[in-house]
Amino acid sequence: MITVDLHCHTFYSHGKDSVSDMAAAAAAAGMRILGFSEHSPRPEGYDYPQEYREQLKAGFPAYLSEVRALRERWETAPADAKPLRVLLGLEVDWFSAEQPFIARMAASEPWDYLLGSVHFLGHWGFDASAADWDVSDDVCHERYTAYFQALAEMAGSRLMNVAAHPDIIKIFSVDRFNAWLDDADNLEKVRRALAAMKEAGMAMEISAAGLRKPCAEIYPGPRIMRLAADLALPVTFASDAHNVRQLGWNFDRLADYAREYGYASSRYFVKRKAYEQPF
Ligand SMILES: [Zn+2]
Ligand SMILES: [Zn+2]
Repeated sequence: MITVDLHCHTFYSHGKDSVSDMAAAAAAAGMRILGFSEHSPRPEGYDYPQEYREQLKAGFPAYLSEVRALRERWETAPADAKPLRVLLGLEVDWFSAEQPFIARMAASEPWDYLLGSVHFLGHWGFDASAADWDVSDDVCHERYTAYFQALAEMAGSRLMNVAAHPDIIKIFSVDRFNAWLDDADNLEKVRRALAAMKEAGMAMEISAAGLRKPCAEIYPGPRIMRLAADLALPVTFASDAHNVRQLGWNFDRLADYAREYGYASSRYFVKRKAYEQPF
């Protein structure tokens, strides 16, 4: 059974629930370790149609202090009465043109870990609107290629510990994405991104969030799991929960899926140092 979840959000961004309610729900769902990975504030000019920048900026100090307090509760509890272990993470958007901003964010706090996410190609947040994907196959293919280039570049920065939802680019075009992967040259683009993660000491996230989205597939899909297993790339598990009901949701399925590829433990990070937890 999976007992570590390194990816969740709160009402400080576009989630629905508080830090303490998310922690309580994770414990109730059988988690032993919960990493909070609230979205990092983004630079100006990188906007979603439904933007939460101001709210996040205003709430960020409170987010940090609430998560730190829960983390401390585990640290100070006696060994025979440990509560849920809470870790302080951050989900950081990767922007090729904003590396100084990202490096400042990475250095701003003793994070337990950073999730690196590609949600934007240039200034466009590609995962917000299905209508944006009403485009030709050629345009789709260029986007897939650009996405995996960005992922490789993110790994090369060596700022991140985990690559979140590694094939989220399929969100609104899963059939075309899977057809694109049929081409060996394209699969090689993906493999190169995963090899860059391995080289950087990163882990790859296996996320239930894809099952709730139009793609209706775990992130990442089977062929990418096979590549990751062949590279012995460590993995993490993620609910990417935005409310209490999503904590632990479909985790049995994630565990079976990871086992199919030979995985028996998942990675977590404390003060950026890697540990493994069996599942
Ligand atoms: Zn994300
Ligand atoms: Zn997330």
